[in-house]
Amino acid sequence: MKIKIAAEMLSANDAIASENRKLFKENGVFVINLMSSPGAGKTTLLEKTISRLKDRIKIAVIEGDVATAADAERIEKTGAQAVQINTGSMCHLDGGMVRNALSEFDLESLDLLIVENVGNLVCPAEFDVGEDCKVMLLSTAEGDDKPLKYPLMFHESSALVINKIDLIPYTNFSLEKAIRDSLSINPRLSVFPLSCQTGEGLDSWCGWLEGRLGGR
Ligand code: MG
Ligand code: ZN
Repeated sequence: MKIKIAAEMLSANDAIASENRKLFKENGVFVINLMSSPGAGKTTLLEKTISRLKDRIKIAVIEGDVATAADAERIEKTGAQAVQINTGSMCHLDGGMVRNALSEFDLESLDLLIVENVGNLVCPAEFDVGEDCKVMLLSTAEGDDKPLKYPLMFHESSALVINKIDLIPYTNFSLEKAIRDSLSINPRLSVFPLSCQTGEGLDSWCGWLEGRLGGR
């Protein structure tokens, strides 16, 4: 019985996500669903990405967190519009939560909308919010065993950003193993090792993102 309820919930979500997707298409907005565990550096990656691209691309952000507006405040300092969703007890964003935030934006004027999901390696990957693609962020401090332990998120993503490569000397993280295991789950993944602290690797990530926007 529980399984049936979960299936119904997911199909109701899919219907809302499809409406969101249609709205994004009509307005020419490319949408990314950014997922990772808490503390991997999603908001920092967005700050760096927006700073690099904002002169060429009109970017806005939906911030999903259990509590606080701290991340939306950080994003607004970059000059991009940010809307915070507080999920309360919910550990992921769904199509309805994103739809409710959309009235805050002038979609027509946007090129790129990034949805920063709640920090969680499990269920954010199960809920379509109407995005064009999912991007997964893994940080070296979390360990190189995460792709095999949490395969769904890696499987569903178009790109994998491996953040905090500057910390590798202080960990037993194997970049080679993390990439190999991720590609064994999803051979289509574009992988971007980078450091938001040193700036290494940010150019290739931003280049990929700009390229994806070209395909709108
Ligand atoms: Mg954040
Ligand atoms: Zn959840």
